[in-house]
Amino acid sequence: MTLQPALYGLSATANVIVFLTAVVIFLQQSVIGNEFDGNRPSTHNMPMFERLRPHRIARRLVELNADELLTRGMRGVILDLDNTLTAWHSTEVRPDVTAWVGRMRQAGLLLCVVSNAATAGRVRPVADQLGVPWVTRAAKPLPVGFQRGMRLMGTTPATTAVVGDQVFTDILGGNRLGLFTVLVDPVSTREAIITRILQRPLERLIGRVAKDAPPSPGTPQSPTIP
Ligand SMILES: [Mg+2]
Repeated sequence: MTLQPALYGLSATANVIVFLTAVVIFLQQSVIGNEFDGNRPSTHNMPMFERLRPHRIARRLVELNADELLTRGMRGVILDLDNTLTAWHSTEVRPDVTAWVGRMRQAGLLLCVVSNAATAGRVRPVADQLGVPWVTRAAKPLPVGFQRGMRLMGTTPATTAVVGDQVFTDILGGNRLGLFTVLVDPVSTREAIITRILQRPLERLIGRVAKDAPPSPGTPQSPTIP
């Protein structure tokens, strides 16, 4: 067995574990409530899928502007890697993404890449290109990776946004901690097989609906890398 297939195998196993964890967390919170939200004593008045709803939907990362995030009280942004910052398993950062990172930084926002990728070698090249700190093996939707990202930026859940392309990792995990959650379209149609056959159909079933900011009907579709 060569190293590369071995790593892909590890990634697939990690994806299965992450997905099953997300399902367990979702079911647990649907039945007995959310341990992180002191303002919500029970789930009797909580819509079942609320934890899977992003606060905001954007076609692409670069649609977000710093003023919007600053107005909402954000000081830092946690960024997913695969299919959010770059295409899946790519280290190529598009120029518009580099420019967006520059605009965020110029506006005073802090950034951190938080990825479920199994190896630093997958995350570091992208983070280094952008000059931002990074967290690998984040185990999203569990809190640990988000918390490490916030520690690196010196932010709190109330001042941190998370941007990602997956409901069951980025959005569920961010919502559990009380972060401002932003769901983007995947950059590429290529992704882990487990994501394609398990998570995406469920995401379609749930529907891409924001809590308080549905996408405007005139919003153009972003180009998708095949
Ligand atoms: Mg992703």
